[in-house]
Amino acid sequence: MAAVFPAAEPGIVRVALDTPAADSFDYLGSGAATPGAIVSVPFGRRELVGVVLGRADSSEVPAERLRPVRAQVDWLPPLDANWMALAVFAARYYHRCLGEVMLPALPPALRESAGWAGLAQRAQGRFYRLLPGAGQALLDSVPARARSVMALAQALTAAADDAGEDGGPGLSASEARALCSAAPARLAQWEEAGWIEAETRARPLLATEPGRAPSEPPPLHAEQRQAVEAIGAAQGFSPFLLHGVTGSGKTEVYLHAIAQALAAGPHAQVLMLVPEINLTPQLQARVAARFPGEPLAVLHSGLAEQERSLQWLAAHRGEARIVLGTRMAIMASLPRLALILVDEEHDTSYKQQDGLRYSARDLAVWRAKQLGIPVVLGSATPSMESWWRAEQGAYRKLVLRERAQADAVLPAVRLVDLNHERQRQRPLYEGLSVPLLDAVQARLERGEQSLLFLNRRGYAPVLACDACGWLSGCPRCSAYLVLHRPERRLRCHHCGLEAPVPHHCPDCGNMDIAPLGRGTQRVEEALAARFPQARIARIDADSTRRKGSAQAMFDDVHAGEVDILVGTQMVAKGHDFQRVTLVGIVHPDAAMFSHDFRAAEHLFASLMQVAGRAGRAGLAGEVLIQTRYPDAPALQALARHDYDGFAGAQLRERRQAGLPPFAYQALLTAEHGQLDRALAFLQAARRQAEQGVPAPEVQLHDPVPMSMVRVANRERAQMLVESHSRAALQRFISAWVLTFDGIGEAAKGVRWQLEVDPLRI
Ligand code: ADP
Ligand code: ZN
Ligand code: ZN
Repeated sequence: MAAVFPAAEPGIVRVALDTPAADSFDYLGSGAATPGAIVSVPFGRRELVGVVLGRADSSEVPAERLRPVRAQVDWLPPLDANWMALAVFAARYYHRCLGEVMLPALPPALRESAGWAGLAQRAQGRFYRLLPGAGQALLDSVPARARSVMALAQALTAAADDAGEDGGPGLSASEARALCSAAPARLAQWEEAGWIEAETRARPLLATEPGRAPSEPPPLHAEQRQAVEAIGAAQGFSPFLLHGVTGSGKTEVYLHAIAQALAAGPHAQVLMLVPEINLTPQLQARVAARFPGEPLAVLHSGLAEQERSLQWLAAHRGEARIVLGTRMAIMASLPRLALILVDEEHDTSYKQQDGLRYSARDLAVWRAKQLGIPVVLGSATPSMESWWRAEQGAYRKLVLRERAQADAVLPAVRLVDLNHERQRQRPLYEGLSVPLLDAVQARLERGEQSLLFLNRRGYAPVLACDACGWLSGCPRCSAYLVLHRPERRLRCHHCGLEAPVPHHCPDCGNMDIAPLGRGTQRVEEALAARFPQARIARIDADSTRRKGSAQAMFDDVHAGEVDILVGTQMVAKGHDFQRVTLVGIVHPDAAMFSHDFRAAEHLFASLMQVAGRAGRAGLAGEVLIQTRYPDAPALQALARHDYDGFAGAQLRERRQAGLPPFAYQALLTAEHGQLDRALAFLQAARRQAEQGVPAPEVQLHDPVPMSMVRVANRERAQMLVESHSRAALQRFISAWVLTFDGIGEAAKGVRWQLEVDPLRI
């Protein structure tokens, strides 16, 4: 196997490993270990995979203690300097060690040396090529009777004839075997005779359909055209905010932008990020249909490990020209990246919630800046951060005001005032108001579909005893066990604890315990009782646990085999339901009392998303929102489809209160079996800051218990650090985290976590 790198002097190599101990570790390596190479090294008694950062002239480790690199993936092109720079930036910005960023970004089969051989086998193949002038001799050597051997010889000469000057790709080992079962022996013989040459080369990993005609794009409307042209004309780093209501044709703009980028260079790559796995099949089909001849890779955590590794590899080698993926894809190696698209840029799933808590959207902008390429952030409800940047002119705003399809209009939004319903003595039926039930009835009569949205799965959020006040609390969390009636279980949605449903109150023995409140299962049951003829489907994390079941249910909805769809946020995003004309929002109120300053923003975005499911194809859509707070600004703005007004008001409030995007935050959280120990750690961290770390322009808030203080028997507390200057905050944290080692006793048994730009506080 040919080595990819030139061999040079052995020396000291610096390697990043997935441990919080240090950024790099020194080893003895051969000259082949260039920056970006993947190696395996001894680490204590273990063997770890690492990424070579570079070479060093000397090491702090005494020469006799330096251990050699064990092995290297020598067939893989090294990770390039741009990728390394991205990892370095992410490590610095989120205050992690380099290897903690780099290694998790690599695919599973590369992260452990045990996976290397299997990947190499899938990724490479033997190829055979006729040497110039050897054709006749080869053909003459084959006895006429040996049909299949002759077929093999002819295939080799034909491939050479087709190839012209450079000899062409030749014949792959599997093609050869298909022609002739004795191919391996024959090929070896011919190679020996000097007629052909053999080579191990990358095998194409992605299938394309070059013969298929691309799907026909609709003629762009004026605003779409302006957007596409602006993106196409961009030179260098150009961030765009594509603001368009649901159904306004943003995806069509992305597809055109992709076409432009691919046309600009024969090797250019495009990265398109989407928030959820369950959105990728639909979008993937749409992209594949538009670009049947372009290798398309997908990257998300739902793929089997081997498959994900191959898709990653296709991106890394430059074979994939379009990469479609969830947040993890922002860390993919893309040597020829020319354009980044971030769909639904406001979506919170772009923020990783454990480990390295990065924002894929923010890294996308950084990556585009570093490469000097355009990046398009698209949304119907941009995040306040992106909106503010666009308002300031840092991002260029592209606006799509209308729905794209000629006959589609935005749905009428009506607030159903539940106070008013009570005054009129029209009681709710299982949480469903008369106007909403009537609207569903009307859809059933017209053969149209209704979607009822309730962001709470299970039957009821809590089970209660009327006699003594007992509630089904989770023994391990400060949360209630949720009743799942069809499964007859109580479940904690935070720690996973399960228990059977008790027959009587565990405290007083009362037989009459009842579910309080309602989740999707209960709404489904109520609708089935009320509309016995209707075909009802429920889509939430419980009903779609089996692989493929979500897709099957969505297919039923699209095929018109469902009259009423009940669902959580799983139904809110992306799906283009052509026959849904009614969206009912059953219970938005819980979100209005959150302590989180982003609650209104998230509520507005999610309701706007769900509302956007209605009336997409010529049928007039209607959205009914049941609420006790019809005056809430988020709901009022929603009823007017007024994102701009809502965002303006939000930004004014945030500016006054000194909140993001007018301030930058970091959150230190600590966990311990006892709350006071978690708090003590935070206090100690604060003292460290006050005693030794210069903190100009940085404000440290008091440590406080988290609003959900206990999860899985761990008590949690947090401390917010804030500054109006991102640079000042970063400087402070860099110095501050170094002092955590000195916390000593108070750190014992405490798990802590520092999050930069936290989304939930
Ligand atoms: P978004 O991504 O903003 O929700 P899409 O790009 O998915 O919007 O477009 C919504 C619907 O309108 C899709 O069915 C799409 O095929 C259609 N569409 C998009 N652009 C046009 C256009 N210029 N003319 C007609 N139909 C269009
Ligand atoms: Zn009781
Ligand atoms: Zn629990």
